[in-house]
Amino acid sequence: MSNRTLNLTDPLYDYLLSVSLREPAVLRRLREETARDEMARMQVAPEQGQFMTWLVGLTGVRQALEIGVFTGYSSLCIALGLPAAGRVIACDVSESWTRVARRYWREAGVDHKIELRLAPAAETLADLLRQGNAGRFDFAFIDADKENYDLYYERCLELIRPGGLIAIDNVLWGGAVIDTSAQDADTAAIRALNEKLHDDARVDITLLPVADGLTLLRKRDLGE
Ligand code: CA
Repeated sequence: MSNRTLNLTDPLYDYLLSVSLREPAVLRRLREETARDEMARMQVAPEQGQFMTWLVGLTGVRQALEIGVFTGYSSLCIALGLPAAGRVIACDVSESWTRVARRYWREAGVDHKIELRLAPAAETLADLLRQGNAGRFDFAFIDADKENYDLYYERCLELIRPGGLIAIDNVLWGGAVIDTSAQDADTAAIRALNEKLHDDARVDITLLPVADGLTLLRKRDLGE
């Protein structure tokens, strides 16, 4: 028994998956195809994807944002948790990765729920704000270039409604966040955002040690 988060050994991780993962075949095929890409580590873990589907369903998300699509596994997980009329606006700059994503979204029969915006996410988010969409989203998943995490967070916080959720991926960054010799821009950006969020009175926070660390933020209603 432990009152600390367990360090998952490989066999214990396999056990966790064996008693909880219900990965649909289309997601498994997408994961297997993506595993052959040299950037495969950018794909969310299957149990994290399942958690996101579950969370989106639990909280009744209808309008979602995704910053960083890659080959579309997490977008697909979000879409699977949405009701029939739900929508996710998925932001990425890569034509080649999102071509894979689109193929699997179609195969899963949820492509009508996912609107891909092929442009820098900072531009897409600014456009959405300019078009009067502040407070119109229920959920945002941020999993893109780490140097812009703070910018994405601030824009998403404007775009979601009070009570809405923001999930930020890779917040433990392979453990580099506590390695003082790691001073690269990505690590510094994640560290700075983690510290800022801890004290950010605009949100309620929890950090789950799932996969590479997932911070969940609930936007407070500050009565504005
Ligand atoms: Ca990630």
